Amino acid sequence: MDNTSDNTKAKITWFAKYWYLMLFAVGVLAFIITIVAVGSNEEKINNSVEPTNAAALTFYLPLTDATITKNYDDKALQYNATLNQWEVHKAIDFSVANGANVCAACSGKVVDIYSTYLDGTVVVIEHANNLKTKYASLDSELNVAVGDNVVGGQIIGRVANSAKGEAAEGAHLHFEMLENDKKIDPSAYLNLENK
Ligand SMILES: [Zn+2]
Repeated sequence: MDNTSDNTKAKITWFAKYWYLMLFAVGVLAFIITIVAVGSNEEKINNSVEPTNAAALTFYLPLTDATITKNYDDKALQYNATLNQWEVHKAIDFSVANGANVCAACSGKVVDIYSTYLDGTVVVIEHANNLKTKYASLDSELNVAVGDNVVGGQIIGRVANSAKGEAAEGAHLHFEMLENDKKIDPSAYLNLENK
């Protein structure tokens, strides 16, 4: 036998001895490639999912043909003629004809209905993005109940002069907006030009 056939024989012997090692190595390589591929795919899926609280909300004015008699201000004191005192008014007061319809400013769920001497009949609606709207000085006869889902622009009740803490303003809607249960300026969400 010459050298060449010796070499060939040696190679064949090596393969016969170590073929399972080669197979194992190929198997490990395939496993690693699979893991990397699945990993990068998962990353792509995660990137395509938008955060759940990023939903864009549509807001409507809670009533039409209204005049703003008191604006939101979280610092300056405003005079309350009813109580004869200066106070911070973190709400917008819309004066309007007695009995005018009040609409949900945005889609959401009615989470609270109550009545106090100072605020009159009050409806609270919870929206996405940790927002709430609060409608005070309503007529006690409402179109909604706690637990109702409402859409933006849906009639929830009627304006009255039930808030005795602001009775001097006459029939009006005392409208508040809250984010994470802290009062915020509703004008950031409402198009007050169209009131
Ligand atoms: Zn008010």
